[in-house]
Amino acid sequence: MSDLSTMIQRKIRDVRDYPTPGVLFKDITPLLDDPATFALVVDELAGMHEVDKIVGIEARGFILAAPAAYAARAGFVPVRKKGKLPAETYEESYDLEYGSATIEVHRDAFAAGDRVLIVDDVLATGGTAAAAVDLVRRAGAEVVGVAVLMELAFLKGRERLAGVDVRALVIV
Ligand code: AMP
Repeated sequence: MSDLSTMIQRKIRDVRDYPTPGVLFKDITPLLDDPATFALVVDELAGMHEVDKIVGIEARGFILAAPAAYAARAGFVPVRKKGKLPAETYEESYDLEYGSATIEVHRDAFAAGDRVLIVDDVLATGGTAAAAVDLVRRAGAEVVGVAVLMELAFLKGRERLAGVDVRALVIV
């Protein structure tokens, strides 16, 4: 395992039974408040691909994607839960363990052919990231990759992202 991966793992806190019983929540707040680790993570994301835009998935994806976009001199684009974006949107729904969720992106967020990196904190079942990939493509841009801080490999999220360059800074 790389030094960065070890550093990140030390700064992610496991919280049992949050938000519901049976879930082991990966809390990134100890990483965010550690300046050295936060800076290394942002630099790693910013240098991963040559891109025009970096997409952050609400809400913790925003915290990583916005500074990475700034560092890469790329634009930042939010993918938000339904009903939060003010202008015209594309929307995608996907299944959760119980029920479903819908995320949106502004229709005019990208220029045709923009190269886009999608960023989130945790890749679990992959439903959220796969829906974000579909949104970016529907909006006319090219997905060059999905990057996450941590991948929960046992949930096989990668399988829902066939053909996409998926990179996780930590895999557990
Ligand atoms: P999924 O769509 O199942 O890949 O879930 C990914 C989304 O849910 C991400 O936006 C994560 O922030 C959040 N998430 C899922 N599982 C966890 C977990 N165990 N700890 C922290 N966040 C999680």
